[in-house]
Amino acid sequence: MNILVINCGSSSLKFQLIDAETEVLIAKGLCERIGIDGSQLVYQPAGGEKEKTVTPMPDHTGAIALVLKALTNDKTGVVKSLDEIGAVGHRIVHGGEKFAASTMITEEVIKAIEDCNELAPLHNPANLIGIDACRKLMPGTPMVAVFDTAFHQTMPQEAYLYGLPYEYYEKYKVRRYGFHGTSHSYVSKRAAQVLGKAYEDLKIIVCHLGNGASVSAVQNGKCIDTSMGLTPLEGLIMGSRCGDIDPAIMEFIAHKENKSIDEVMDILNKKSGVLGLSGDFSSDFRDLEDACFEGKEEGVRAMKAFAYRVTKYIGAYTAAMNGVDAICFTAGLGENSPLVRNMVCDRLGYLGIALDQEQNNKRGEDLVISTPDSKTKVLVIPTNEELAIARETYALIK
Ligand code: ADP
Repeated sequence: MNILVINCGSSSLKFQLIDAETEVLIAKGLCERIGIDGSQLVYQPAGGEKEKTVTPMPDHTGAIALVLKALTNDKTGVVKSLDEIGAVGHRIVHGGEKFAASTMITEEVIKAIEDCNELAPLHNPANLIGIDACRKLMPGTPMVAVFDTAFHQTMPQEAYLYGLPYEYYEKYKVRRYGFHGTSHSYVSKRAAQVLGKAYEDLKIIVCHLGNGASVSAVQNGKCIDTSMGLTPLEGLIMGSRCGDIDPAIMEFIAHKENKSIDEVMDILNKKSGVLGLSGDFSSDFRDLEDACFEGKEEGVRAMKAFAYRVTKYIGAYTAAMNGVDAICFTAGLGENSPLVRNMVCDRLGYLGIALDQEQNNKRGEDLVISTPDSKTKVLVIPTNEELAIARETYALIK
């Protein structure tokens, strides 16, 4: 069965068509600037050339119509008709406390996702627009919602509660939710396979280091803590997000700079992280790495602070699990940066960790990068959120 995986943002839409039985990618692509001038579709059948089409996309329904046309067109299409698409899997950012697992999309589920809009105002409404557009264009096709938050719903109360008046949890559900759950789940399971051990017997720390970044602690196959919180702003220092800070800084900056809460929030989300730390040099870790190699202070400062925070979380989660068997690196930076992996692992000698530099310098595959006698194993596992969504979708449809 072919499964269409949709990841819908406010003005963009990523898609992949995956054969669920063989787990082979059939085609993938991206719609950009939906509802804005200059919208374009990038479409690539597996093994074929990338095609770019600049064409108006007034809304998401228009964008998905173009995607379906590309998938079925005579020349470079990959299926004869839409009947060959057995189901659609939608990535949904926030499932609140309602969704601890993926679920078939019904009217009731749509309503429950809408109820979570408040918790992810930038993401959930866009995800819902994607669902709506697909339902209009493929009315008979079953659809599944796969939540970024679901994997983290196993966290115990002591890990998800904040030190705030308990009534805010009761009234507004203010608590830690965590994100990137599909990736943390996929990578931790894959790590167990690569190590040839039972998932249920392991203590694993996953470092998902991309533009957005988070760490999770997975004990006996269940997430017991993660660094992102009520929103994806908490935790690690990220591309442009601040991560953990003293909450009093908000008021301090608002007074000093004469700014509103919204303006300070904008700074914490878009102008902080390694971008802010590097004095606006770059939020892209490739630029910062180059700057580090050239010995430029702004790059060194940002990268050191970034890596230090990751190391600190690894220490915290080792304590939370009373030990750790494996540490995994994934996502854009985690998969591609031997430098960052070295910087993070530099202070982990107390866990009996030593990196094999030849392995650490390889790219693009599942790898154990610690030395054979390293007590705690260190792995690089390329994440594949789309495949994980296709698997979840297929499992529910079956
Ligand atoms: P997101 O999905 O949050 O946008 P990604 O997982 O795609 O993030 O990661 C993007 C980040 O990974 C960027 O900051 C980019 O600089 C970094 N990255 C990608 N490739 C490399 C590389 N070869 N070396 C260092 N960093 C890289």
